[in-house]
Amino acid sequence: MLPFCRAALRKGAGMLKRLIRALFAPRCCVCSGRISEEYIYKEYKNVCICKNCFEALDRTPADSLFPGTRHLDFLTAPFYYTGEYRRIFLQFKFSGFFAYGHIIGQAACEYFSAHKVLEEYDCIVPVPLTRARLNRRGFDQAALLAEHFAEGIGIPVQRALERTEEGEIQSRLSGAARAENIRDSFAVCSDVKGMRIIIADDVFTTGSTMNECARVLREAGAEDVCGAAAAVVLRKPRSEADIF
Ligand SMILES: [Zn+2]
Repeated sequence: MLPFCRAALRKGAGMLKRLIRALFAPRCCVCSGRISEEYIYKEYKNVCICKNCFEALDRTPADSLFPGTRHLDFLTAPFYYTGEYRRIFLQFKFSGFFAYGHIIGQAACEYFSAHKVLEEYDCIVPVPLTRARLNRRGFDQAALLAEHFAEGIGIPVQRALERTEEGEIQSRLSGAARAENIRDSFAVCSDVKGMRIIIADDVFTTGSTMNECARVLREAGAEDVCGAAAAVVLRKPRSEADIF
């Protein structure tokens, strides 16, 4: 083959490769653009979040410690539940966009991996769903996120809680009604005596669900209980000195 033919073929192959890469590049879950490799922040199964969109999300400070509840020492979360984050979160939770959940989980994994206080805990316990709700929804969002949290912190997931009562959906109720609705809804189903536990949930709103989980875990002998969520409804973080 003549040298100029080989050069033309190589050039054509290079252009085709670039075209294929542009056409099938992962799509950003926030701006919907096809994103080339150097601009991807996190990726899961051809869905990603680009670096620009990630920078624009409403992130909490590093090592955040938000006020807990009566039975929960504190809460930590990587994002505030606002704007674009809330939008992709709702698509994950209610429309079954699992890739979005994994991207949120990967970002949380990175955040919690740098949070030193969490290393002192023994395990992650996800807030459970009732079997009926799990069957209706088809997946358990807190359990999916808990796997990512656990990977970041370097401790195991322990399914130590089961849901005994379904009650009303918490997000439809006000603060006081939420606490009443969730009371006696959980039971401890494995040995937690002397353990330091991180409860994992998707969003921390009033804290009544995590508080009730923490209450039964402490009653069963857990030594310390705190919470980790993928997002927290806007509130001011406290310093470590205020909590410990
Ligand atoms: Zn984007």
